[in-house]
Formats: sequence, C-alpha cells, structure tokens
Amino acid sequence: MNGLYLVAVGSVPEKALEWIEGAAAEWLPFPIRRLPPLSIPEAAYDTKRGQYQSVEIMKMLAESASRDAARVLGVTDVDLAIPMLSFLFGQAQLDGPVAVVSLCRLHQEFYGLPADENLLRERTVKEVLHELGHTFGLVHCSEPTCAMSLATHIELVDAKDEQYCVRCGMQLVRRCAALEGEV
Ligand SMILES: [Zn+2]
Ligand SMILES: [Zn+2]
Repeated sequence: MNGLYLVAVGSVPEKALEWIEGAAAEWLPFPIRRLPPLSIPEAAYDTKRGQYQSVEIMKMLAESASRDAARVLGVTDVDLAIPMLSFLFGQAQLDGPVAVVSLCRLHQEFYGLPADENLLRERTVKEVLHELGHTFGLVHCSEPTCAMSLATHIELVDAKDEQYCVRCGMQLVRRCAALEGEV
C-alpha cells in the first residue's frame, strides 16, 4: 500500500494540483505523490461530440499506475463524457484504484460567467472527494451537502460541503484503515 498518486492529464494549473493534494491529505492516511504529467490519449477524443471519452483516460491511468499504488487520481481540464451521458464531472472505479476528475465544467467561464478562483477551488475539492470516495467503496449519499451526493449539474456541486457527512466519513476511515493493513 503505497498511497495516492496524483497525475495531470494534459495541461492542468499547478494551483489545482496543490488544492487537490491538500484536500486528499486532510482525509486520507496515505502519502500523496505526483506522477509525471500524461498526455491526453488521442483515442479519447470524440470528434462528433468535441469531448473526450473518459473510459480511454481511465484505461491509460490504470496502465500508468504502479502496482503498489493504492489509488491513482487523474486530473484534466478537458470535457469528459461517456456514451450514455452528455458529460461527466469525473469518473471512478467503485472500490478500485483509478479515478479521474475534470475541471472543465467547474470553471465559471464554462457558463459564460467571470472567473472565480475560490469557487473553482471549492468545486475541485468537492469533486475530488467524491471520486476518491468511490475508489474507497463509498456509494452515492442521499444527504445533499455530503461530498458523496450525486451532482448532475453545477448547482448540485455548489450545494455540497467540502466534506463527507459523518456516515460517509466513518466509512472512508474504516476502508482506509483496512487498506493500510494490506501490504
Ligand atoms: Zn458519483
Ligand atoms: Zn454522505
């Protein structure tokens, strides 16, 4: 068990990676490390939709993960989608090692509004906690302020707190403790 590996997929602002490291360190008992940035795989680009297929990025992250990594979190600024959904804020394997978060729709500019760095930071932290939670086996929570509640649009992201509810937080702690016991 060697911790969480954070990796930029394509060009990602350094400050966003720092926000993510800070949030992850607050909740996870593992070391957090950076992997060298990865290029967005060409196969991921969907010319019809002008978006990137999340599955291809997840596949690349899984391949790049060293076998001793507990979790690998990719961060990208491009817009992600899967065939069934028009967009994704992020994707994760349930109780599995790989997750990805897209910053694209967390920017106010995406909605034609002026940039708001603090809001971008808050949204990034919420979505990172959400996808990381899935990788530790947490499912969607019915508490709208919990980081694990399902957000299908940005207003629902903004309704969340930058933390898990007590129940989800406890579950995360238990799962992390179990993983720490594994070598
Ligand atoms: Zn989810
Ligand atoms: Zn919860």
